Formats: sequence, structure tokens, C-alpha cells
Amino acid sequence: MLIKKSFKTKLILSYILVVFISFGFMAFFLDKSLEENSLHNIESALITQARLIEPQIPAESLKKEDMASLSATVKNLSQKAGCRITVITIKGKVLADSEKLLLEIPQMENHQGRTEVRAALSGGLGIDIRHSSTLKIDMLYMALPIKDKGAITGIIRLALPLHSVQKTLFTIRKIVMLGSIFALAIAVLLGSLLASRTIEPINKMIHVSRQFSAGDFTRRVFSASSDEIGELAATFNKMAQDIEDKIGQTKEQNQKLAAIFNSMIEGIIVVDKGNHIISVNPTIEKLFGVSKNEAEGKLFLEAIRNNDISEFINSVLNKRESISGEITLAYPIHRIFETSATPIFDNNVVSGCLVVIHDITEIRRLETVRSDFVANVSHELKTPLTSIKGFIETLLEGALEDKDNSRAFLNIIQEHAERLNNLVNDLLSLSHLESKEIILSKIDFNLRQQAEEVILGFSAQLRKKNIEIKNELQTGLSIRADKNRLEQVFTNLIDNAIKFNKDKGNIKIHYQDVDGKIKIIIEDSGIGIPAKDIPRIFERFYRVDKARSRELGGTGLGLSIVKHIVELHDGTIGVESVEGFGSKFWFVLPK
Ligand code: ADP
Repeated sequence: MLIKKSFKTKLILSYILVVFISFGFMAFFLDKSLEENSLHNIESALITQARLIEPQIPAESLKKEDMASLSATVKNLSQKAGCRITVITIKGKVLADSEKLLLEIPQMENHQGRTEVRAALSGGLGIDIRHSSTLKIDMLYMALPIKDKGAITGIIRLALPLHSVQKTLFTIRKIVMLGSIFALAIAVLLGSLLASRTIEPINKMIHVSRQFSAGDFTRRVFSASSDEIGELAATFNKMAQDIEDKIGQTKEQNQKLAAIFNSMIEGIIVVDKGNHIISVNPTIEKLFGVSKNEAEGKLFLEAIRNNDISEFINSVLNKRESISGEITLAYPIHRIFETSATPIFDNNVVSGCLVVIHDITEIRRLETVRSDFVANVSHELKTPLTSIKGFIETLLEGALEDKDNSRAFLNIIQEHAERLNNLVNDLLSLSHLESKEIILSKIDFNLRQQAEEVILGFSAQLRKKNIEIKNELQTGLSIRADKNRLEQVFTNLIDNAIKFNKDKGNIKIHYQDVDGKIKIIIEDSGIGIPAKDIPRIFERFYRVDKARSRELGGTGLGLSIVKHIVELHDGTIGVESVEGFGSKFWFVLPK
């Protein structure tokens, strides 16, 4: 099993190892030198003793091999010297041994082969350490030649048991062992104390760095020491501060970028080189009905099913060049986009693509509206002008002489001139209303009275078509608004209600309170408006029946003027109508 060692354990273990090795070495060399020293001392003592004893061996007894006399001498000398003494002939035969009885001596084996004896026989000093089979202990043997007039006559051997040396060594080893254990205990204690102090700031750093990785950079490590650990802690704190600052800056930058990204009117899509969506902004979410979370990480076509944009992206990723163009979206809503796709480079390699989509539907619509408007205006102006020109030519070519017809012609010219005048007036009011520079001069006035005045102005037309009109607005109903403009609203709506009414038809003007706002309804029993035309009825020049409208002196601008005025008053306008049964035009204004 693999045991994960902490730094502290490692430190303590290394202390123990150091103590162990140094004590080991010390014990080993101490032991060795003590042993050598003791042996050397014993050897020296034995040599001295041997040299002193050697002359005391009677040469005569040795010559005669007088074992009894020699035995008595060695026993005596052995007692004095405190060691075993053996006398051996040059042939190796034992003549006397202080540890043996005289009787046993003849059974003793020949000693010629013994190391120390061999050395002594060659004239020198023989020393050997052997385990004595007789005494079962290690013995130090020392042999000297016994000389008589320079010739070797025998060998004297002294032997000493080594247990005293071993005892001394054992005592010393015990002391060294105890010392080692004591030192080890101190090493463990000191080691753990020192390790704890060293480790404490490191552990703190580990703890704090864990909090860093969890995103909390406010923590700091405190270390009072001025050593490397203290320096490490200071560097660590500095690093945390730097990271915190950098993260702060990055966060701020990201927030700014996100704010720009999220508030951009343009739709933004960022994809990686594998065509996976990295990010989309809220405009894209709205346009394509996808949520950011759903889209991010998905392949482009999986999230946004638009082949045109996908082709743009593929082209950019393959050709590494920006492209732009117009694309039309049919679903979920009809839209026209100016789209541009640009490669994103990372170290000169395309790492993705940025797509910017600009909704130009409104611009295109306005362009169409403008060109339609110019065409409409030209057409509207051309018709009466052509007529006027035609009748003037006819008059000039001689019809002027024809008194009856010339008057009729001039009436027609006047009628067309009147139409031109109406058209130009309507166009002027419309352009004025649309200019946004208009300032409403609001005053409090009575609505019923206002409607009444307008109705009065239409008395002739009402009489002519035999139309009955009922003003059901309350007497006290008043409003704060631009009186002249509201007069125009009433005029245009009542004018239409009369123009598009049947003979003997009727009109009713009434009021409703809608959430505290004033709703005025002008209801007629006229020809009504086909359902398909209702959505476009407030557009400029839009008329259900162009010929009929012209014939009735209409310009096709009345309702758009009304709509503009109502909207300038923060109001709303609408119509409900059934073809053949009449129409109900209404507008709601705040009080
Ligand atoms: P015009 O000058 O033709 O009256 P408007 O803008 O006032 O222009 O009206 C646009 C068209 O709306 C008219 O041509 C007519 O077809 C239709 N319309 C307006 N008011 C009524 C109504 N009360 N009843 C039926 N149709 C109406």
C-alpha cells in the first residue's frame, strides 16, 4: 500500500535518518577502535608477561622434557600472571599447561600447526584470536620462542580469555544504543516541533490557495518570519493581490463588453472554427426565437436554421475573408438583414467567425413607402393637371366662343384646381405632422361643442344626402388637447362618414370611458369597408375605391392625417366595419 507521506513526516524521518546514520557511524568506529585498543592493551600486557615468564622456565626441565616440574612451574606462574600458560616443544608437543592436569597433557594434540606457535617457531612473536573449544570462549593466544644461547629450545604460550574485552564493548554498545534512542527521541520531538513551525505557513498557503481556486482572492497568508518561507508568503500575497486586480480589471472589461454586446441593436453571433456557437446576443435570441443557453455550444445549423447565414460562416471559415450581403428571413417573421461575417484570427490562424446582423427591414420599408409616396403624389397631381390642361386647350382652340360650354369647362377646371388645392393642403399638413417639429398648443375645451361646430359646417352635405346625425357626447365632456388639430380629426371622420354613407343614412357620435381615457366613436350606416382593406386603411393614399374617392373629392390622405394627430396626443385609433352595413371609427385620448 502506498502511503502518502506529508512533508512533516518526511522532515521528521530525515532527522531520524541523520541521527541514525551519524550514531551508526559513531558506534561503528567507536566500537572498532575500542575493540582494537583493548586488544592492543591486552596484547602488550601479555607480551610483557611472556617476556617476564620466559626466563623462568628452567632450561634444564625443558631439555629433559620434565613435564612434572614444568607443570608445577606454569601452574605457579599462571596464578601470578592471571593467564593460561602452556609450554610446547619445538616439535609441537605440549609439555605443560596451567589449565590441565599432568595426566591429561599427554592426550593433548600436537600444537605445531597453531598459528601463534608457527610464528614463534620461526623466531618471532605469534598472536592469534580463536574460539577455544576447551573453554568455549574467544581466547587471545600469544606465543614466544624460549631461547637458550640463541637457539630455540621451546615455545611458551600465554592465553587470555577475551570476555573482559567483550564486556567492556557490550557496556559501550549499551551506552551508544541508549544515547541513540535518546537522540532519536529528541530528533523526533525537535523534528516535529521544527516541522510544525516550518509547515504551518505552508499549510496556511495551501488552505488559502484552495480558496483562491474557489475564486476568493481576498485571503492573505500571514508569516512573521523573515526567512525563505516568509518571503514565499509575501510573494504569495503579492501574487494574490495581482491576480485579484487582474481579475477585477478583466471583470470590468467583460462587463463593459457584455453591456455593449447585450445592448447592441445588431444581432451578433460568434462561432468557433468547428462551427459551434460560442455566443449570441439578445437581438439574435429575439430574431430567431432561440435562447442563449440553448444555442451556445451547439452547431450553428442545429440552433439557428438559416442556410444563408450558415453559408456566410462556412465561406469565412474556409476562405479566411470577410463577406457581407443582404439576406431575407421568411420565418418566424419576414425580415431583411444586412449581414457581415468576419474571421476571428488567433496567431494568424482562423479560430472562429463573427457574424453581425443588421435588421434593415424598416429601412427597406421606408424606402418603398417613400418611392410609393412619390409615385402616388405624382399620380394624384397629374390627373387634375392633365384635365386642367386639356380643358384649357379645348377653350383656346375655340370652345371659349361657345358661351354655354365654356362655362361648364371652366367649372370643371375650377373643380380640378380645387382638388389640387385640397391635395396640396393635405400634403402640407401631413408633412408638417410628420416633421416631428410640431408643437401642440393644448387647451381645455368642450368636446361636444367642438363636434357640434364641425357638424354645423357639414349642414349642406347632410341635407343633400338626407343624413341624420346624432351628437350623443355629454354636455360637460371636456379634454385638454390641441383644439385646431382635434377639429381636423372630427372634420375628416365626419366628412368620411357622410361621403361613404347611403342616402337617408345616419351617423352617431358617442363616448365611452376606457380606463380613465376618452374614447370617441363615430358610427355610420354607410357602405362599410371590406375586411381585407381594414389593416391598410390608415396608410397614405390608400383607398378602397380610388375612382369613387376621387369623385367625392377625396385625396386618400384624410385618415393618415387623423392617425398622426391622434398619435401626437399619445392616443390610439381604430376601425371596426362590416362591408355594406357601416363603419365605426374610434379614437382614444388621454384626458
Ligand atoms: P379619402 O380622401 O378617400 O376619404 P381617407 O384617408 O379619408 O381618404 O379614407 C381612405 C379610404 O377609407 C377611403 O377612400 C374609403 O375607401 C375608406 N373610408 C374612410 N372612411 C370610411 C367610412 N366611414 N366608410 C367607408 N369607407 C371609408
